Amino acid sequence: MAELKLSESKDLTRIERIGAHSHIRGLGLDSTLEPRLTSEGLVGQLPARKAAGVILQMIKDGKIAGRGVLIAGQPGTGKTAIAMGLAKSLGHETPFAMLSGSEIFSLEMSKTEALMQAFRRAIGVRIKEEAEVIEGEVVEVQVDRPAVAGAASKTGKLTLKTTDMETVYDLGTKMIEALSKEKVQSGDVIAIDKASGKITKLGRSFSRSRDYDAVGPHTKFVQCPDGELQKRKEVVHCVTLHEIDVINSRTQGFLALFTGDTGEIRAEVREQIDTKVAEWREEGKAEIVPGVLFIDEVHMLDIECFSFLNRALENEMSPILVVATNRGHTRIRGTNYKSPHGIPIDLLDRLLIIATQPYSEEDIRKILEIRCQEEDVEMTEDAKVLLTKIAVETSLRYSINLINSSALACLKRKAKSVEMEDVSRVYQLFLDVKRSTQYLMEYQNQYMF
Ligand code: ATP
Repeated sequence: MAELKLSESKDLTRIERIGAHSHIRGLGLDSTLEPRLTSEGLVGQLPARKAAGVILQMIKDGKIAGRGVLIAGQPGTGKTAIAMGLAKSLGHETPFAMLSGSEIFSLEMSKTEALMQAFRRAIGVRIKEEAEVIEGEVVEVQVDRPAVAGAASKTGKLTLKTTDMETVYDLGTKMIEALSKEKVQSGDVIAIDKASGKITKLGRSFSRSRDYDAVGPHTKFVQCPDGELQKRKEVVHCVTLHEIDVINSRTQGFLALFTGDTGEIRAEVREQIDTKVAEWREEGKAEIVPGVLFIDEVHMLDIECFSFLNRALENEMSPILVVATNRGHTRIRGTNYKSPHGIPIDLLDRLLIIATQPYSEEDIRKILEIRCQEEDVEMTEDAKVLLTKIAVETSLRYSINLINSSALACLKRKAKSVEMEDVSRVYQLFLDVKRSTQYLMEYQNQYMF
């Protein structure tokens, strides 16, 4: 591995869609880290959110290394919601990796490899690079049409001017395309990043502006840059250690980052990358950004995984580990021992524990309202009251699931707002856990054993 490859992962885009927690934008805290009643999509659960706020501050101050957080509480009390809120409050540069305890049991890779990949997805590397940037006023762009029709590459020349000199630059196809896409014309002041061919229009030149009719009301007039045309500028890229691993692993291409089909990554690849990153850190070219690794249903991990976590937390680059469970005193998988939350005592000892509490009827109503807005569903007051009642009787999650299906029932009636009849219709169609269990007990003779 002569040169580490980084550039291919720069343009990764993440697809946002309406998911169970897409309404959550942060922890909803004020400037003194006190939780607001309802804010940034989060409702109530005040003590837990306050505790999460303290952890947020510790993470920001870099004071939580080698430890982790356990969010414990009954099902549907917002454990995942709070972990998401914490991740969002850390800002988009802080990596956040999420997995469920059961996901690590796969045939494609060992449990510890799956955990290792999750850890490295939660460790960011901020890499600084110097880029050559040319800035100046466009005097002329001249493009040489290729002699053969359909020939792939075009060449051209660009005359750029600063206050005291004019320089002519040779242009490649990429830059010519960027210039025409940005509709660059004489008199524009532009910046070109030579490596990527990226062009930024800075505005129109003071000196030339009056000669042109094509000047819009919002055009910014800027002074032509002084002196030197070429500047060196610092550009920062943020990638995760896992992205660097995948791109540099010989068996996997960078496309594996999109499909998630990365397979196992060899230990030597990781060692080389760690050495290279350590070199960059020493040279001041890179910084490590520890992110958050969230493991939901942590009781699904077994004793080998727990000992891996214990060891991984000792590493100086370790991300902040946040785990959640809805289990009480239960067996640790892979052993015959019972332990609180099914987590070995030595790991529990390293965790700060946050407890979530069951919701009041009012909180449930507010959460349902936020979800209606998120899913773009109009609902009458009566229907909301009914949906809240159903949530109190069954579960919050079941009620949230009814929002979308009752909107479909409403659509079928060709009505605009979801009414009580739509909610009660889908309530009868889809059973909640309690009714399903009752049904099973009544008819169990007819099921297979
Ligand atoms: P489980 O133990 O079953 O995994 P959980 O405690 O992780 O449950 P969540 O999945 O966070 O519960 O909550 C269920 C749903 O309710 C999610 O859609 C979540 O976003 C929403 N929700 C829970 N609590 C809140 C809250 N305080 N504010 C806003 N939305 C919430």
